[in-house]
Amino acid sequence: MVLLSKYIVVTGGVVSSIGKGITAASIGRILRSYGVDITAIKIDPYLNWDSGTLNPYQHGEVFVTEDGMETDLDLGHYERFLDVNLSGECNITTGKVYSSVINKERKGNYLGACVQIIPHITDEIKAMVRKMAKKTQAEVVMVEVGGTVGDIESQPFLEALRQLRNEEGHDNVMFVHVTYVPYLRAAGEFKTKPTQHSTKELRSTGITPDMIICRSELPIDTHLKDKIAHFCDVDNKAVINAPDVHSIYEIPLILNSENVGDLILDRMKIEARKPDLYEWSRIVDSLKLDEARISVGIIGKYVELEDAYISIRESLKHAAAELGVKVEIEYIRAEDTINKGKIDNFDALLIPGGFGERGISGKLDAVKYSIEKQIPLFGICLGMQCMVVEFARMHGFEGANSTEFDENAKHPVIDIMLEQKKIKNMGGTMRLGSYPCKVEEGSIAHEAYKETNVNERHRHRYEFNNDYRKILEEKGLIISGASPDNFLVEIVELPDHPWFLGCQFHPEFKSRPNKAHPIFKSFISAAIENKRNK
Ligand code: GLN
Repeated sequence: MVLLSKYIVVTGGVVSSIGKGITAASIGRILRSYGVDITAIKIDPYLNWDSGTLNPYQHGEVFVTEDGMETDLDLGHYERFLDVNLSGECNITTGKVYSSVINKERKGNYLGACVQIIPHITDEIKAMVRKMAKKTQAEVVMVEVGGTVGDIESQPFLEALRQLRNEEGHDNVMFVHVTYVPYLRAAGEFKTKPTQHSTKELRSTGITPDMIICRSELPIDTHLKDKIAHFCDVDNKAVINAPDVHSIYEIPLILNSENVGDLILDRMKIEARKPDLYEWSRIVDSLKLDEARISVGIIGKYVELEDAYISIRESLKHAAAELGVKVEIEYIRAEDTINKGKIDNFDALLIPGGFGERGISGKLDAVKYSIEKQIPLFGICLGMQCMVVEFARMHGFEGANSTEFDENAKHPVIDIMLEQKKIKNMGGTMRLGSYPCKVEEGSIAHEAYKETNVNERHRHRYEFNNDYRKILEEKGLIISGASPDNFLVEIVELPDHPWFLGCQFHPEFKSRPNKAHPIFKSFISAAIENKRNK
């Protein structure tokens, strides 16, 4: 049992999308390799209560935790890099902080005080951070502050974390600032000024970083690091370079080669231990495989932003690495006409989750071609629902649809869940989080899981309509997974097909680089088999 947790606060500067979350997760992975017990918190300074109602085009995928919170995709990086399950409370937003404070004010908890950002909002932030430390008993809590230093909305968080260092003591709170060092091709040199400015901005909040991690396109040299150290008032050993790499999984190794682990242990007075990144290096090596490529086409709606399907992409990579192949993913816009010839070129197809009618007809075409051409097809959530709709249409149920797209569908084979009918609010009201599923023996799913009782994470409002269950089964659809009370269909398959599996849940949230998800593994095996038979 840990009496006192230590905190590593990660802030970002210069520009967004420099991989702050992955950098923080990589630091976490390094500390884990030293045997340090670690957990992570992501602060999102936006006003939304959670990520559930955010458009994937803007913020990428919505990651769902075991306990059913719709969170920022960085929690996915943490779960994959740290190999832990995080709770929804690990994602703190301005929305959550303010609604909690306003609730307390309405109850009269502040005893007549004028409720202000300092101390009430900052106290609430610290309480939320400390609550996670206490609950997890982690030796180190990583706290990543979303956005870029200088944003108005992140100010209360930086102030709260500054206070945290005073209250917890210098040895127990450390600040890591992740910046970008651009290379100006015209001038033929790297520029440190943006890093100097963003560090100055951070220091104006009262926080001096203990370490600066410089993201860059190419490696930077010692001279440049010394310059950054000098101008930003940071020890020159603590100026770390993280240049672009092929695979995000290489980052813990790169950071470790710059001594990040030892520096943190030393700075935070954590008893020195030896790191063991052997297992992680093996994972990185397996992900580097370049021969034996297999191709997977993802027919989706949000294909312009790859981050919208980040967990699926990573799960495919994990499974391919375990099977000794490399996966090449091509994203196909479901709104465009799905070309049968093109589809046939892929070794396997995947239809991911989604909302709304746009792109549905392309997804349904993809289901039809997969059945006709016997191409392995994996449908996740909305993907599974499309498989059921198209199967019904192909078996005499003209006008079969989901009531999400046609409220008056002649054959509503997918319908809104009973308990969802009375719900009006959009945020946090879906069937969310981990639920048990019973898997039928003799099915593809059972062969993959090698287990009858599994738990998977969900995020949906619509479900397979039981009025059509018997008749579609008679037409050949196999229900290979259902809720333990057998009421809710969880997995569908087809017998006369090399690999056709749709699941109502999202297995991609549980895949880890060292533990590929069994269904993804089975899917990639089918793709390999399909390629072999071509
Ligand atoms: N829109 C569908 C539903 O709500 C599918 C959701 C999803 O794919 N996550 O049931």
